[in-house]
Amino acid sequence: MDIRCEHFPELSRKAVNDSHLQRVLSDIGERFKQMRNSAFQELENGDELRASAHNIKKHTMENLHEYLIMLEKNIVNSGGHVHFAKDASDAIRIILEIADSGKVRSIVKGKSMVTEETGLNEELISHGYEVTETDLGEFIIQLSGETPFHIVGPAIHKNAKDISKLFHDKLGAKDLKTPEEMTMFARAYLRERFLNADMGITGVNFAVARTGHIVIFENEGNIRFTTTIPRIHVAVMGIEKVVPDLNSLQVLMNLLALSCTGQRLSCYVSMLKGTKKQDESDGAEQFHLIILDNGRTEVLADPDFREILYCIRCGACLNFCPVYLKAGGHSYGWVYSGPMGSVLSPELLMNNRARYLPFASTLCGRCYDVCPVMIDLPSMLLKLRQRFTEKKPSSGVLSPRERAFFFTYSEILKRSTIYNILSFLISPFKRVLLKNPVIRRHIPYLRIWEQFHKSEFSDRPPFRVTWDKKGLKDEGTG
Ligand code: SF4
Repeated sequence: MDIRCEHFPELSRKAVNDSHLQRVLSDIGERFKQMRNSAFQELENGDELRASAHNIKKHTMENLHEYLIMLEKNIVNSGGHVHFAKDASDAIRIILEIADSGKVRSIVKGKSMVTEETGLNEELISHGYEVTETDLGEFIIQLSGETPFHIVGPAIHKNAKDISKLFHDKLGAKDLKTPEEMTMFARAYLRERFLNADMGITGVNFAVARTGHIVIFENEGNIRFTTTIPRIHVAVMGIEKVVPDLNSLQVLMNLLALSCTGQRLSCYVSMLKGTKKQDESDGAEQFHLIILDNGRTEVLADPDFREILYCIRCGACLNFCPVYLKAGGHSYGWVYSGPMGSVLSPELLMNNRARYLPFASTLCGRCYDVCPVMIDLPSMLLKLRQRFTEKKPSSGVLSPRERAFFFTYSEILKRSTIYNILSFLISPFKRVLLKNPVIRRHIPYLRIWEQFHKSEFSDRPPFRVTWDKKGLKDEGTG
């Protein structure tokens, strides 16, 4: 699939200058934040729940091998098949083999970030299969040929007018004006696809090791159709989606719905185990679970970054991130965006292409504050920055001149006396110096910095002077 993480600077600049997109992003921020915050305010033990979720994920990752084997055993005992895939091409090969041996022609899909990660749709289509995304947002994205804008709301950046035009241009729909009309049109279109599908492919929110259930949350009912009507159901999950037991599931599922959309629980929760039994009226005759590694074992082995595997894909860190809410999902250039994507993409891609992403953060810490599993994203972003700038000097994030500038600047900042003397000496000439073209050429980012720090050129006293005058330092406030 097309990976464009290295284009983050251009893509985000374009997004910031797109006034329509900026309005959409501001709306996303407001709506999601409000939903998540009011849901958590109603809880008496929100932080206790988050700590408990963190411990469940920590324990699971420390015993991952054991839980994956247990899951495999329980799924096989209930009539399913388990396949371990080393990487994306391995997962695609396995799915193509299942489709081929099952004489599949038509496939319906539920929303799944891990299949986006593997570029599965393109591969299936190139092998002649008819593939239809059935989550409404993913369906819109598939028609428009884009990648998801947000891990929870893939088409959240599109308005009713965009969608009406898309349905008209691609599917010949006429005069669809309201969201209800568009939804009913998509519903009728998709119903046909469900009834004729030979295979359903879904992601997995959680897989319960002790019972062999796979658990999927949704609000539209399309997963119910995808998993019960076609003859074959293939579920794809990263190795980190396993949870020990139903008690752990209960904690994590509560937090997922609350953090995603502020719901106590999603409208539909499917807990699926194995294949259709003799006395059951619906369900798949064949069930396959693909457990994908794709670089996760390396992440697991690294104590500095292991925590990113605790992520339950709720999207809260995106909704609260000031950078995501300006840059938007497509600027990140791959499936995962926002703070979680800025850690996960460099880790999974394991190359220089995602080198700008860890810098796409103000390190304000909001992502950590809202993360339902308390992943310390800011620390990981800092470590990645360090890795890209120090351990791989050829990464290209900073030029040698920029590196020399920041080294000198940080050495001065560490010594307050030198900083104060230099500030005092430079102060009267500051305006003249900063306007000098030679200086401007040699101080990196000065022009960009100026755009956002106009007050520096005002005659107000510096912050540290106000701080000292008000005696704030002595009172120990701040
Ligand atoms: S890192 Fe935390 S907040 Fe962000 S998507 Fe994952 S679980 Fe949600």
